[in-house]
Amino acid sequence: MMDLLHWIDGAFVPATNGGWLPVTEPATGQTFARCAAGTASDIDRAVQAARSAFPTWSQTTTAERVSILERFAALIDDHCDELATLESQDGGKPIARARSVEIPRVAENFRFFASALRHEHNDAFTSGPNVLHWTHRRPRGVAGCISPWNLPLYLLSWKVAPALAAGCTVVAKPSEVTPATATRFAELSGEAGFPPGVLNIVHGLGSEAGSALVRHPDVPTISFTGGTTTGRDIAVSCAKQFKRTSLELGGKNPFVVFADADVDRAASEAARAAFSNSGQICLCGSRILVESSVLPEFQEKLLAATAAMRVGDPAEETTHIGSLVSESHYLKVKQAIEAAPGTVLCGGGRPNGLPDRCREGWFLEPTILTNLPESCALEDEEVFGPVASVRAFSDESEALRLANATPYGLAASVWTKDLDRAHRLVQRVEAGVIWINAWMVRDLRTPFGGAKQSGLGREGGIESVHFFQEPAGVTLRLGDPS
Ligand code: NAD
Repeated sequence: MMDLLHWIDGAFVPATNGGWLPVTEPATGQTFARCAAGTASDIDRAVQAARSAFPTWSQTTTAERVSILERFAALIDDHCDELATLESQDGGKPIARARSVEIPRVAENFRFFASALRHEHNDAFTSGPNVLHWTHRRPRGVAGCISPWNLPLYLLSWKVAPALAAGCTVVAKPSEVTPATATRFAELSGEAGFPPGVLNIVHGLGSEAGSALVRHPDVPTISFTGGTTTGRDIAVSCAKQFKRTSLELGGKNPFVVFADADVDRAASEAARAAFSNSGQICLCGSRILVESSVLPEFQEKLLAATAAMRVGDPAEETTHIGSLVSESHYLKVKQAIEAAPGTVLCGGGRPNGLPDRCREGWFLEPTILTNLPESCALEDEEVFGPVASVRAFSDESEALRLANATPYGLAASVWTKDLDRAHRLVQRVEAGVIWINAWMVRDLRTPFGGAKQSGLGREGGIESVHFFQEPAGVTLRLGDPS
């Protein structure tokens, strides 16, 4: 049994009150580790360590910071296999996905923000012969970073990397559901040369450790990724202390296919968009909208592409879809399917042919429903599992109305060869991330975030670094004013 401890002030420590939480491998249902159950006193200890480290870290030169960030990236690359194995075991995600997509992206996040720092520049201008103005950006102090279980280290690093690059020190709270890789990540940060207290990781429940971090008066900046309900509570709590807050929340994303699209490509990408990581990605396309004239052809191809996805043991190299992340999440997704007032086109049950090892695991077949009422729980609420619906539309205005018909506004994928139409939709689709003839093509320089109830603020590019800094407009008057 592995013990996952907090990382505070450059050392592993247990929870102050000696509490533990069990950590289960969802593909087998077996507990393989326990993690420290952090409370407000652990958070306070970590915040004090981060506060003490701040004056020195915030004054490091760009070259020093860049070199530690790059060293950390290289260490993550060197330990990719080990981290990917742990991530797959902890979250039930296919090992091939963890090794080829998620862990490399963790390293890339550090490399990217090191490079962003190297290229950062601020405005400076004159408003008269003797008056000079510029923007001075100072790191905002201790940053609180809270991340979810679906892409555990990938999303944690997407916050921690820009915060450290900005000159902040960090207290991070990973999800209690998938704490394993964050612990190894912490240890590697010490090897990379981050001074003690610069990066601290506190495990624990959201309602205990997470909430204590959000409320802590010495943490002026909170970057949160997780569910919309949690995000709303955090926004209320942060508002009371005027904390700067970034909220990356849930989605219920439309995948819109027009009759003039490349139907083959659209169908295979729709299957990938719906079922990657068992549908547990905030950007997954769970509402597939198809122009009626191509619906029969599209549906046939979508079902074939879905059938070709192998659900199985996440530890096997050829698995496309692993287990769901936990028993409670599995039950929630299964209940959403069973309660849906529609027709099941495929899936809905436990996949056949799982190995013995996975007998007690939380697996669901990729599931597609149709004939759902326009407004019902499965169409309006985020399910966050391997479940998608298909619905026909008759023209562009109906497609747009359906695409925008939820309280969420995270991502949209639009498939058409008509560029005029694509351009019209870009202006009207209520989403923070829009793909045309693509899904999940990401460039870290582009803004990332949601509209409506999918969040507040944008991450990505230099904006992520600026989020953790306080800009001051500085004016210098030179010479004798008389
Ligand atoms: P969650 O909101 O339950 O938990 C997220 C994190 O917040 C965890 O670390 C949790 O411990 C912590 N937390 C919970 N309650 C808290 C509180 N009161 N105060 C402070 N912290 C608290 O979300 P989850 O179930 O872990 O993740 C799934 C959700 O995350 C989905 O809704 C998904 O769409 C969303 N998500 C969004 C994005 C995005 O970029 N928009 C990316 C990935 C996941």
